[in-house]
Parts: sequence; structure tokens; C-alpha cells
Amino acid sequence: MVETEVLVVGGGPAGVISALAAAKLGSKVILIDAKPYEAIGKKTCGDALNLAPATFLEEKLGIEKPSGDEVADNVEHLIFKTGKAEFPIQGDGYVLNRHPYGQRLLKTAEEYGVEVRPETKAKRAIVDEGVVKGVVVEDKNTKETYEIYARISIDCSGRNFQIRRTLPPDDFPLLEYSMEKRDVAVSYREIIRLKEEDHPYQNKIFLIYREEIPEPGYFWVFTKGPKRLNVGIGWFLEPRLKGMKECFQEVLHKYYYSPGSYEVEDKGGYTIPTRYPLTNAVASGFLTAGDAAFHVNPLSAEGHGPALTAGYYAGKAAAEAIEANDVSEQKLWQYNVNVMKHFGLSHTKVQLFTAALRHIRVKGVEFLLRRKILNQDQFIDLHAGKELGFFATLKIAIKAFPRYGILFQLSKIVKGAQFFEELFANYPDNPHDYPAWQAQFDAKMKQVRKL
Ligand SMILES: Cc1cc2nc3c(=O)[nH]c(=O)nc-3n(C[C@H](O)[C@H](O)[C@H](O)COP(=O)(O)OP(=O)(O)OC[C@H]3O[C@@H](n4cnc5c(N)ncnc54)[C@H](O)[C@@H]3O)c2cc1C
Repeated sequence: MVETEVLVVGGGPAGVISALAAAKLGSKVILIDAKPYEAIGKKTCGDALNLAPATFLEEKLGIEKPSGDEVADNVEHLIFKTGKAEFPIQGDGYVLNRHPYGQRLLKTAEEYGVEVRPETKAKRAIVDEGVVKGVVVEDKNTKETYEIYARISIDCSGRNFQIRRTLPPDDFPLLEYSMEKRDVAVSYREIIRLKEEDHPYQNKIFLIYREEIPEPGYFWVFTKGPKRLNVGIGWFLEPRLKGMKECFQEVLHKYYYSPGSYEVEDKGGYTIPTRYPLTNAVASGFLTAGDAAFHVNPLSAEGHGPALTAGYYAGKAAAEAIEANDVSEQKLWQYNVNVMKHFGLSHTKVQLFTAALRHIRVKGVEFLLRRKILNQDQFIDLHAGKELGFFATLKIAIKAFPRYGILFQLSKIVKGAQFFEELFANYPDNPHDYPAWQAQFDAKMKQVRKL
């Protein structure tokens, strides 16, 4: 049996920052990961990271922004593209080499005293009288199973949310326990090196909507230096419409590079939980962050930045609870408040846009962009889950004539956004008021998803 104050399950961005923050703020922390030490931080990914979360970590924890071999290319523009229109948005950030960046964060966590146990797989939560007391783990080398008791366990195990899924629902009625298939995005990507000339996409990342790709999925082209690209494709698992690798090859070869013009350095696919975030990610002795808490942007599937951000809030909440000798749901609740405020509302509003996109389809997006029905700022606002003003909506109404289907969807987004703005302004500051709030949230979200 092992004992600690904080146990973090998973050494991805959410876990490593949770552990680092809790340790820096004074807690005794163990971080476990199923992978070998050297593989922690490595993940099949598009590798894009916004500047904002990197700046946030620098401000809150003094962690330097990605640099040197951690950065494959700097990004200045994010460009939305359809077959007929192109829409550039200023967007500072990086295309990373995730592995060295993740390893640096891991080593920094160790410098703050985090004990890392690699090749240690979490099996299930240990629960006693409605409080999470730790996790049963397996040493992958010896196959030995043992318990790690912790005052707080933080589930950062990614898409399978291994700890949350093993909690008994009767003891924790305010948590969710499953993920619907319609919320699972599936993606495939290759890192390619061009044999001849440099590519023309430096300092840019492209999200490309094309008819070949089931909406609201997209193809991406992300720069990784003059001759390298991270190219990939993603869409929702359901309905299952076509073969992903075949579609990837079709789009890549038809619009970009012929099969003989590049070498594939790496390839792989994975699933991503892609929906609005858990509106409660807390229980007594328990927190969850990152993919395990559905913190991925529901449209773009960017989850790295939210995982880093939520990781900071989770580590902070854990350390403060340990310091106060109170690991109750009530004490940890501030974590929910912080996450909802930081990106919970905006991700929820992006869910509205995602739902609308399923109806508007690529042709509708082209119509909106080509006819300049939405200007650049409005498109960014919609995409980022911000609200369109009433006046702007009115102007859109006039311009969209006679495409009232699109207009209807836009008005739904605006009304839904207004509803959620008001609801989130009243997000409860304690667990007792949460069920009534959640009932309102669930009813509206059900409506949105029916559209
Ligand atoms: C193909 C693809 C492309 C993507 N592109 C982008 C992008 O360009 N930009 C972006 O922001 N996001 C992107 N994402 C999403 C991003 O990768 C994730 O949102 C992010 O990694 C989430 O971090 P996390 O720490 O929550 O989980 P993860 O990074 O998945 O880390 C989870 C960790 O937990 C460990 N673990 C799992 N189960 C156990 C267990 N039982 N016991 C112990 N350890 C366990 C794993 O080994 C892993 O180290 C992409 C995802 C995919 C699949």
C-alpha cells in the first residue's frame, strides 16, 4: 500500500500540469501513467496549440512557453477554407513537437517534487462512504496489483476516463458516467515530408471543409517547418459514413500532394471526446480534467490548451483542499466555477455552432463566407462561442434572403447563446444548488441537439 496527498492518473497535458501545480503549491503528489517514462507526453495529434494557454501557464506557474525543438513552426494565422472560399483569422500559436514539450513539463513537475510512476496502470477507484480514497493500480512489469491511497485523486486519463467510469453512481449522483457515441470524434493523421519544394503553408494552419468529408468534420493542413506537414482528417463517429483512411488519401491526393511527392514520417488515428464539458467535474476526494472531463473544443477538437488550463485549476483546487484539510465536494467546487468561467460557457456555445453546421453543411458555410453574410469578426465570434449582437443578426437576416434555412440556424445559435450566457452567469457556487441548475442546462442542451 502506498499513501500520498494527491494522486494524478495520466501524464498527458492535463495530468502533468495538475501534478505540477499541486506540488508547486505544497502538496505531496504521485503521478502515474500506463506508458514507459520516455513515452509520456507522446501522442498522435494535430499538434496545434494556441498562445493563450501557454501564456496562462507562464503567468500562473512560471512555466516558459514552448521553444527550441518543442516548436515545429510558429503560427500566425488560422484559416478556414472550403472548396470555394478562404477565411483567414489572426491566431497566434504553435505547431508543436508534443513529445519534447510534454517531457519538459514532466521533468519540471519532478523538480517540484512530483513522484512519477510510469508503466503503472489505473484499474479502478477506491471508494469509502461517498469519498474517493485512491486508486487500485497495476504495475505493468510485475503485473502486481496494489492500492495507492490519496486524499484527492485527479482523473486525467484521457478519453477513457478510467477513474470516473469506475465510481459507483449511487454514491456520486452529480457526476456523469458515460459518453454517447455521437460525441466521439474519430481522426487520422500523417506527418509528411515533401521530397521537392517547400510547402506554401508556413506560419499557417488550415481547417478545410470539403464535400468529401462528413460535416461538421474537416481536413487539416498544419505546418511543421518548410518541408513538413501534419495533415489529418476528423469527423464524428456516428453516423458511420465512409472509410476514414480512404477519404484522407482521396482529399490529400486530389487537392494537395500526389502519392510520390512525399514520405510519411508518422501516422496514426485515435478517438476524441468532442462535446460540451462536464458541468460538474468534482466529488469528495475527486477531480477530473482534460479529455477525461470532455474539455475538448466541440467543433475544432482542440483539447491540448483546455487540458493545460483545467490541469492548473485542478492542481490548485487540490492543493488548497489539502492545505485546508477539507477534501469535500463543497471545498473542491470552486474548480467547477473556474473551468465554467474560463472555457465552459464558450465551449457550450461552440456546441450550438457545431449543431448548426450539421444542418447548414459545407454549402451553407460557403454561402455565408462568399456572400459575406458574416464578417470576419462575427465568424470568429460564432466559432469561439461568443454572441452575435441583435443588430448584426438583423443585418444577416436581410442579407441571407432567400436562404431562410441558414437564417433559422443562425437565429437558433444566437438565442441559444443568450440562454447559456444567462444560465452560466448563475452557475452555482456550491453543489447543493447544482441539480436545479443542471436540470435547466440539460433541458436546453437536449433541445439544441434535437435540431
Ligand atoms: C488525431 C488527433 C489530433 C488532435 N489534434 C489536436 C490539435 O491539433 N490541437 C489540440 O489542441 N488538440 C488536438 N487533439 C486533442 C488533444 O490531443 C487532447 O485533447 C489532449 O491530449 C488531452 O490531454 P489529456 O491530458 O486530457 O489526455 P491525453 O493527452 O490523452 O493523456 C492521457 C494520459 O493518460 C494515460 N492513461 C490513460 N489511461 C490510463 C490508465 N488506465 N492508467 C494510467 N495512465 C493512463 C495515457 O497514457 C496518457 O499519457 C487531437 C487529438 C487527436 C486524437
